[in-house]
Amino acid sequence: MLKDQDRIFTNLYGMHERSLKGAQARGHWDGTSGIIDKGRDWIVQTMKDSGLRGRGGAGFPTGLKWSFMPKESDGRPSYLVINADESEPGTCKDREIMRHDPHTLIEGALIASFAMNAHTCYIYLRGEYIREREALQAAIDECYDKGLLGKNAAGSGWDFDVFLHHGAGAYICGEETALIESLEGKKGMPRMKPPFPAGAGLYGCPTTVNNVESIAVVPTILRRGADWFAGFGRPNNAGTKLFAISGHVNNPCVVEEAMSISFEELIEKHCGGIRGGWDNLLAVIPGGSSVPCVRGENMRDAIMDFDYLRGELGSGLGTAAVIVMDKQTDIIKAIWRLAKFYKHESCGQCTPCREGTGWMMRVMERLVKGEADLEEIDMLWDVTKQVEGHTICALGDAAAWPIQGLIRNFRDEIEDRIKAQKTGRKSAIAAE
Ligand code: SF4
Repeated sequence: MLKDQDRIFTNLYGMHERSLKGAQARGHWDGTSGIIDKGRDWIVQTMKDSGLRGRGGAGFPTGLKWSFMPKESDGRPSYLVINADESEPGTCKDREIMRHDPHTLIEGALIASFAMNAHTCYIYLRGEYIREREALQAAIDECYDKGLLGKNAAGSGWDFDVFLHHGAGAYICGEETALIESLEGKKGMPRMKPPFPAGAGLYGCPTTVNNVESIAVVPTILRRGADWFAGFGRPNNAGTKLFAISGHVNNPCVVEEAMSISFEELIEKHCGGIRGGWDNLLAVIPGGSSVPCVRGENMRDAIMDFDYLRGELGSGLGTAAVIVMDKQTDIIKAIWRLAKFYKHESCGQCTPCREGTGWMMRVMERLVKGEADLEEIDMLWDVTKQVEGHTICALGDAAAWPIQGLIRNFRDEIEDRIKAQKTGRKSAIAAE
């Protein structure tokens, strides 16, 4: 189990002061200008050496992403945009940072922006996060008052401003280019890539979009060293990570743990075990609603990191939002509900997603009741494959993968329900 002295987020549960005074007492904003004095190359290289992979779901190496930003300005400003949209069902980790430990994020924003030659950072906050906005804005105001933001921020010689932008509550605005569009005041619709944001992002200028957790861990990594951070987890899966465990565990929680912890240890040490015991575990969605579910019996020994969950189980770590479902769950209905969510959130600009999400949801609706033919399972699979990888943004994949996970892992249940409907064996059919 991760030792307390190795935790980056020491006020995750709001037990201590979230003010600047409290944050400084916990070691934040300590020697920030000294870190900046070491220069851009040192910061980017240390981030690369730390092995940090983006915490927003895709797991792209953070230091490498930063290195794509132009070193010299061609006259255009550069921007850091922090994605605080956190709208994926099951994901609820960034809000704990913003409402209880907001200074980790603001200090990280200053250092990261300096490393990318940006004098301005926008934080794009999920529409529903009212209290988080209040806490974050109060922390930003405090920083301006104390000279940690603004001209010569924190005595570093770097002028730096942070603007908090509150979204209107659309899931698609968590997609980085839709987020940029929304920030510019337009409808939140994803852009075609290329050009990538590092070349032409916000207002057509070089932009990096990073997740809240990815930025909030930066100051501690730079203070404690790349080797310290890289010492947690398996190779290529470094660091500590916030896990958000919800569903049928005895104590759902958000907890910082070392990467590559086993699923069993995570659940037993922090969540008080599975409701009804391990034999009662039906399925787990290990990385937020967009990754495929995994059968319970395959999860117990699972290693919770990017490479294991993708390589061994055909799922993914995503945002490490772990959704646990026990045998009381109607898994077909649970996945139908996700299909309905993605259908609702599709922005509609590409045909496979606009039509496919609705099509998949309607077939899922019938599968819940067993009112389908067995051949339709394969047809549904084919449709998911026609959506996956054929859309402008990743929402198409996010809609397809949960259904693929269901068919791969629970085909027997789907077939059983169809047969039960045909024979009138109503006990196997979901309640309305
Ligand atoms: Fe919009 Fe869906 Fe296309 Fe993404 S995949 S751009 S959400 S229609």
